[in-house]
Amino acid sequence: MHHSNSSNGGNPINNISIVWFRRDLRVEDNPALAAGVRAGYVVPVFIWAPEEEVHYYPGRVSRWWLCQSLRHLDSSLRSLGTSLITKRSFDTASTLLDLLNSTGATSLFFNHLYDPLSLVRDHRIKELLTARGFTVHSLNADLLYEPWEVTDKNGCPFSFFAPFWNKCLSMPYDPAAPLLPPKRIKSGDISRCPSDTLVFEDESERGSNALLARAWSPGWQNADKALSSFINGPLIDYSVNRKKADGTTTSLLSPHLHFGELSVRKVFHLARIKQLVWANEGNEAGEESVNLFLKSIGLREYSRYLSFHHPCSHERPLLSHLRLFPWVVDESYFKAWRQGRTGYPLVDAGMREIWATGWLHNCIRVVVSSFFVKVLQLPWRWGMKYFWDTLLDADLESDALGWQYISGTLPDGREFDRIDNPQFEGYKFDPDGEYVRRWLPELARLPTEWIHHPWDAPESVLQAAGIELGSNYPLPIIEISTAKERLEEALTEMWQIEAASRAAMENGTEEGLGDSSDSQYIDYPIETNMEVDLEHTRTNNIQATTRRYLDQTVPSITSSLVRIEEEEISVDIDIHEEDSRAEVPINVNIDAQLHEGTDTNSTILHFTPSRVEFSEESSSSFTERGLVPVWSPSSTSTPSEHFFTQETSRGHC
Ligand SMILES: Cc1cc2nc3c(=O)[nH]c(=O)nc-3n(C[C@H](O)[C@H](O)[C@H](O)COP(=O)(O)OP(=O)(O)OC[C@H]3O[C@@H](n4cnc5c(N)ncnc54)[C@H](O)[C@@H]3O)c2cc1C
Repeated sequence: MHHSNSSNGGNPINNISIVWFRRDLRVEDNPALAAGVRAGYVVPVFIWAPEEEVHYYPGRVSRWWLCQSLRHLDSSLRSLGTSLITKRSFDTASTLLDLLNSTGATSLFFNHLYDPLSLVRDHRIKELLTARGFTVHSLNADLLYEPWEVTDKNGCPFSFFAPFWNKCLSMPYDPAAPLLPPKRIKSGDISRCPSDTLVFEDESERGSNALLARAWSPGWQNADKALSSFINGPLIDYSVNRKKADGTTTSLLSPHLHFGELSVRKVFHLARIKQLVWANEGNEAGEESVNLFLKSIGLREYSRYLSFHHPCSHERPLLSHLRLFPWVVDESYFKAWRQGRTGYPLVDAGMREIWATGWLHNCIRVVVSSFFVKVLQLPWRWGMKYFWDTLLDADLESDALGWQYISGTLPDGREFDRIDNPQFEGYKFDPDGEYVRRWLPELARLPTEWIHHPWDAPESVLQAAGIELGSNYPLPIIEISTAKERLEEALTEMWQIEAASRAAMENGTEEGLGDSSDSQYIDYPIETNMEVDLEHTRTNNIQATTRRYLDQTVPSITSSLVRIEEEEISVDIDIHEEDSRAEVPINVNIDAQLHEGTDTNSTILHFTPSRVEFSEESSSSFTERGLVPVWSPSSTSTPSEHFFTQETSRGHC
């Protein structure tokens, strides 16, 4: 039985809704808010329940961003006629129930999230509240198209980015046009549910956090300005400049997009409008820049798509033979990488930057993560978790996609046996060595000729630059040639284990391959435990550190990230009054996750040990028991190069 609210001059109000904000911290183009406003009176709510995220408790800089963004949202809601109720909770479902009861609301509106934890939680909440007679509506605010809308010609999900993105671009209907902010919000009686004061930082974090505000401006209106500045500025040269590690050549929108301060549909529409203008002017470079920028947005879409269709992609390789890779479990390597003391200047500069600022250009993310998995051969999920803890734009789906791509554990990821040499990457991304000099002051006086390989510099040059290798700057932690040999050995070992397992399977003496559900796990060495398969690991003179890490305590400012405001964009966007976006089908994707550990969907995965061309059209197919991805081999690969294994798809963790 619902209470009715009587704040409206004594008249009972029955059409009250809770609008539950999560990572959609904006009033513009917010379908849940718009729908709530249309339905009547609104109580806007944010619930802080980080313990529900388990391993993925947000890192310091991410919490700082969230705190600023919530303040900004609250101030916008106040100017529209209501205010944001904030609640500290350890159980979101029961907090929502309390809120519904105390405010007399009968409906709940929220926007979809696609990370595995949210999928499960939101499904449960929908079930619980619906069973109690409340109306629950969930909508799409985060994607151009919902994951279930983009399928191949058989109606199955894609397993490769390229055909996925082509399909998005050629959908028969455009992504919905963005909605304007509501003109005014009729507020439910918020006096019945006082806000809790949310604490996002402790004393020790406050000083470091204060510095972040010099480089970044969270909040949806600031996100809008950042978008305008980018579209009217660097976008035109994105195709040429996006790989420059230093400077503001890319949009820097990722933290805004992560927290949903910016509607991806607005980004898409504004970029497309620019593209049309440039096309009319015959500006091909500009057109190509928009294509590439939209492809970046497409990668973000794909990260959610993968997470939706493979909810274990943040935990397990999608090519499951790589679960058998014997990772090196060496905490001293991990520490050297985190602290930027590997002896490879580009890697070290990147790691010092992320430690200091919470930011890293995409090219440098690729360099440091690739060094982590291919040269150091540390478990990729450790690196992913460290990024999660330290990045301003920490985003589970994009983080998982990035690390899986680099580790070669996606069907269209990098070749697993590829090792990039940071010396050559250095001259590619930082030709003048300025980036390295900024982050490694100890190398500041080293001439450009040696800046990316100081170990080759003559003693006299090192002396003149004040460098003593092995003392004030480390020698390379491992030679690249040695790393290559080690990688080859490890791959040989992996294929041997795989062959033995397959033989055992064929003889009926073993049940499955690559299913790590019974494996032991390697603990994440710092702070939080991470589940990493221990079954096939190598150690490298482990010197376990018990010290809690104090990484990333003193951010400094990447001054180059502060973009000068450019002229404001003014374009007319078609606004649809009615919001007809789909809701998550209630029984898609989620059930399996609820039955963790029950292995019902065996899958056959075909692939070859080294990189092969996979058929673009082949993706996945449905069986009676759910989705079963089938990645087809190239026609040139021989049967012996394939193996059969089990895949975790659709929540079969
Ligand atoms: C190992 C690794 C980990 C990563 N972890 C994250 C993460 O935690 N959070 C995150 O937002 N991005 C992550 N990325 C993707 C990418 O590095 C950042 O999105 C990008 O650097 C942000 O800068 P920008 O906003 O200027 O990007 P732009 O080049 O301007 O791109 C525009 C937007 O597209 C999206 N985008 C661009 N590249 C990617 C990509 N490769 N994958 C997914 N989305 C993309 C972002 O939302 C970005 O803001 C990771 C990449 C790698 C290789």
